[in-house]
Amino acid sequence: MADVRVNAEAPQNPAHTETRREDYRPPDWLVPETELRFTLGIEKTRVQSKLKVERNPEGAPGAPLLLNGDDLKPVGVWIDGARSDDWSMKGSDLLIPLDGDSHEIGIETEISPAANSKLMGLYASNGMLCTQCEAQGFRRITFFPDRPDVLSKYRVRMDADKAQFPILLTNGNPVATGEGDGRHWAEWEDPFPKPSYLFALVAGDLKANRDTFTSMSGRKVDLGIWVREADLPKTAHAMASLKQAMQWDEETYGREYDLDLFNIVAVSDFNMGAMENKGLNIFNSAYILADQDTATDVDFDNIARVVAHEYFHNWSGDRVTCRDWFQLSLKEGFTVFRDQSFSADIGSPAVKRIDDVRTLRMIQFQEDSGPLAHPVRPDSYIEISNFYTATIYNKGAELIRMMKTVLGPKKFRAGTDLYFERHDGEAATCDDFVKALEDASGVDLTHLKLWYSQAGTPHVTARLEQDGGKAKLHLGQIVPPTPGQPVKKPMAIPLKTALIGKASGAEIAPERLIMLEEAEQTVEFDNVGEAALLSINRSFSAPVVMDVERGDGELEKLAASDTDPFARYEAIQELMLRWLAATANGETVDSGAVLQAVGGTLRSNQLDPAFKAEAILPPSESLIGDRMAVIDPDAIHAAREQLRSAIGKELAGELSNAQLGGGQPGEDLSKEAKGARRLRTIALNLLAAGDPDKGAQLAKAQFDSADNMTDRQGALVVLASLDAPEREQALKAFYDRYEDDPLVIDKWFAVQASAQRADTVDQVQALAEHAKFAITNPNRLRSIAAAFGMNQWAFHDASGRGYRFLADLILKADKVNPQVAARMVPPFGRWRRFEEKRAAMMRAELERMLETPGLSKDLYEQLSKSLA
Ligand SMILES: [Zn+2]
Repeated sequence: MADVRVNAEAPQNPAHTETRREDYRPPDWLVPETELRFTLGIEKTRVQSKLKVERNPEGAPGAPLLLNGDDLKPVGVWIDGARSDDWSMKGSDLLIPLDGDSHEIGIETEISPAANSKLMGLYASNGMLCTQCEAQGFRRITFFPDRPDVLSKYRVRMDADKAQFPILLTNGNPVATGEGDGRHWAEWEDPFPKPSYLFALVAGDLKANRDTFTSMSGRKVDLGIWVREADLPKTAHAMASLKQAMQWDEETYGREYDLDLFNIVAVSDFNMGAMENKGLNIFNSAYILADQDTATDVDFDNIARVVAHEYFHNWSGDRVTCRDWFQLSLKEGFTVFRDQSFSADIGSPAVKRIDDVRTLRMIQFQEDSGPLAHPVRPDSYIEISNFYTATIYNKGAELIRMMKTVLGPKKFRAGTDLYFERHDGEAATCDDFVKALEDASGVDLTHLKLWYSQAGTPHVTARLEQDGGKAKLHLGQIVPPTPGQPVKKPMAIPLKTALIGKASGAEIAPERLIMLEEAEQTVEFDNVGEAALLSINRSFSAPVVMDVERGDGELEKLAASDTDPFARYEAIQELMLRWLAATANGETVDSGAVLQAVGGTLRSNQLDPAFKAEAILPPSESLIGDRMAVIDPDAIHAAREQLRSAIGKELAGELSNAQLGGGQPGEDLSKEAKGARRLRTIALNLLAAGDPDKGAQLAKAQFDSADNMTDRQGALVVLASLDAPEREQALKAFYDRYEDDPLVIDKWFAVQASAQRADTVDQVQALAEHAKFAITNPNRLRSIAAAFGMNQWAFHDASGRGYRFLADLILKADKVNPQVAARMVPPFGRWRRFEEKRAAMMRAELERMLETPGLSKDLYEQLSKSLA
């Protein structure tokens, strides 16, 4: 009974067990009510819990009560008020044999927030205390059935030193407070039953930006964004975004906020972006704090997006939660879709779609074609933290988008209304969601459900064959094998398609929705008046790889005239990709069509600057790699540099106009001003590729005169890749100016780790030794590790030093924070795609990491799967 301190992550035993979806069983015991008392301290916190437990009629008859724990030992256990020794430890969990159907269980534990470097459960950050419980952090605070289908009503009392922790916050509403002897306490109650992963607590010396929101039924909601006093002026944008999101959710989904109070807290040490705890969202400070001097337009947009995302979870996640973690996309896919729609509505829909698709292709498509590929609803996991992936989030959102495309907006809304009504207060499944859409719309969605269970990105081929007024569209699809799924069925793929007149540039066959459901399918068009060009997968209606038979001339025409902005963007990008892949393969190809398309885009009077910026930006080196049978990073880099340089030289006049004319006052955050700034920096980037000396001068001038972070950082990014005295001057000036602002210093690290230079590996090695590098802070760690891992040319340096550097960093990080360390593995996972020498070196690093004694199960799972 004494040796109960079992670490669930048992480093000496690498046989970490898998949890499987098909093994789901309802809980044996329910916990309708939970009372928690915290005696808070940084070094030591005492947690007393009182759980009202009831036997679940759907559970196993006579089963004992199993309460999950992680790195905990009980100081005492009480059954119905009497201290009891009748319990045992099963691994790290607490097992209590119980007769009868209803009891009150008391448990006392003691934890050390200061020693909690995993940042899961209750931990200390900059002198404050805060929590992160999703997915399985609550079991690091107290013993509990820590699974999302056990919903409980919480009453929480927090007791703390008043000077050290003047502010005490938790979920729900405050109901009582008191003080004496330098201490104070507060008791809060959350009227909505919730799973333990939504529990939150914050204690610290914080100040609030306060505001109110009047909901659609006239309820006044008090809003608070809590930060350190010095950061208060940087919370205005987050507050405005929150109010905008609350109103949008009422108008778009009919969802109203349900408590009198909504609080957000910003913390500097946080594993994820933010967390939707009921009534008390906890945020990575990067997604709250912004002003024109320290945040870019992208930061401002990300803040609006993440604030909205977490707020939207109040319904899609909190009021209706997930039955088990395999259903994670039920809340995440849907909520990402909701935040994407929100951002599109408040900004530019076409540019937002381009941005979302770029993220999907660069992260999710790579995941889906590698060893870590998994379905949107996975079948098994070793560590659930490893499944907070682009597949669950972004592909999950695409799946919801396809359902909406098939149903149309009205029926989709009727479906979500029914879903919220039917499952309010419940833990639901992805099947429940689809069923609600089907029942409300009368439309059978069975064919789309395969997207939940079948992994891999479908590859679709399309060829248009025209004979006079008749045209035939020949479609085909293949879904490549993925781990555990060697043979695939054809998917249901909604393709928005139109025909564009080759001569007129007009839409000669209006957009229609074609459902590709077979391996091969032919679709006919009648009354086609002139030679037609194929515009397909418009607005990226399906998350697939398209291979369309179209000549460069046809693409050039579509780049200038396609009526769908996304398809127009695709035509330009496709032209560039073809040229880049051919050049990287050693072919000599004419760049005329590419330069024509880019020049025409830049000169267009109809296109807005934000669209121009996205369209003329050459595809990333990793996207070019996806086109090649074997990835050669040096050849890809050389090809991309050649194209950038050609554009910079040939279109110097147009680019100079965009760069010089793009100066906008920093306080102007309209989409027009943001678009002009974005185009300005991309133009600068291309100009510098065409003429590095002139580029360095222009960039330094933009850097020095900038009145906002977008222009300043944009210029710094350009300079960071150049060999010019201006580079060192700007890096030093930037550092000196922002030395005490951690979020901006993160940018300073990331800009250098992303630089396109032959010596970037040396640079990141030096950065990892910098006084301001801290492996314990996830943002700082990511500022090097994530940026460098995405920097294809530098990470895949032919010497293999990039691999060695990142592998060493991952091993170090694993000792501190396994969750964050495991997320640094994916760049290694693509080793099979690279040329022989690099593939061998990557594999060797994976094996070296896997053979290291004492690995966390988080890292073990990612490494072993990457090698499998
Ligand atoms: Zn979320």
